[in-house]
Amino acid sequence: MTEEKHPVRSAPAQPWLDEAKAALRKTHAAGRMPHAVLIQAASGTGGDGLALWAAQLVLCTGPASAPCGTCAACRHAAESLHPDLTVVGLVEESQQIRIEQIRELCAELALTSHQGGWKAAIIDPADTLNRFAANALLKTIEEPPPRTFLALVAAQPSKLPATLRSRCQRLVVRAPTRAQSLAWLEAARGPAEWDAVLDVVGEAPLAAAALDPVAIAKLRGETWRGLEEVSSGAADPTALAERWSRSELALRLACFENWLTERIRGRLAPGSEAAELRASAHPPGAESAINPRMLFALLDGVRELKAALSTPINRSFALESLLRSMV
Ligand SMILES: [Zn+2]
Repeated sequence: MTEEKHPVRSAPAQPWLDEAKAALRKTHAAGRMPHAVLIQAASGTGGDGLALWAAQLVLCTGPASAPCGTCAACRHAAESLHPDLTVVGLVEESQQIRIEQIRELCAELALTSHQGGWKAAIIDPADTLNRFAANALLKTIEEPPPRTFLALVAAQPSKLPATLRSRCQRLVVRAPTRAQSLAWLEAARGPAEWDAVLDVVGEAPLAAAALDPVAIAKLRGETWRGLEEVSSGAADPTALAERWSRSELALRLACFENWLTERIRGRLAPGSEAAELRASAHPPGAESAINPRMLFALLDGVRELKAALSTPINRSFALESLLRSMV
């Protein structure tokens, strides 16, 4: 259900990208466009869109200030039809960008531009380049053919080799504020309970836009109820872990994380501050009194599991041990 893409009605402004765009525009106008930029952006905050914008900046042939967004080059780039723009990403079920993909890209970049101008490439998510692929890319980045522009998009640039990182100009995209995210979502998808969706997915409006707010509210309610029941001993952690690991686990973990952070902030009734500050383990039945240290330990556990979802782990078992630690 939540995997469906919901059409974005228009392309509303993304003011949180303005700073990075202004910096790129300035270097481009001064004739000092870097050969490679590393866009550091949390997933769902528009790093991919910024990479495309940067590619359009060098490819644009319009008379207005680049990227105009309306000339044939800008439009073709946006539709992945531009012969001088190559986009490299994850293929099918793969969790890594492979060396063959990078070799192909480097061979393409070594050719003369089809349209006599720049050649551009976008690598996204660049933090999934495996070691061999990153090494293969390094050669091109160290000695780029003239008028070559590469945009690497990564949520976790630290996963890339330092040698590669140091050859790229870093552009850090700050997460949008809640108000910016809400304004963007309302403009893109119309009014809905976006606040609640952002509570679950974090400040990632483009990720939120792909979700159904009603379904998310339902999932969050269901997940929170399950957590209350487990912590009060009313539900069986094994059965719950089994059920959750089979459907919407990533979103459920996000709801779990949200439940914990709300609890840590002392916002959830009936978890009063007094109850949460109690240092001892909670008495049986007093679900609200999981002690703060335990809440933080659980939060770490949930985040670790979220990060490990793409690896071959026993999800149900990992989730069950987290749920058991609440009882
Ligand atoms: Zn243009």
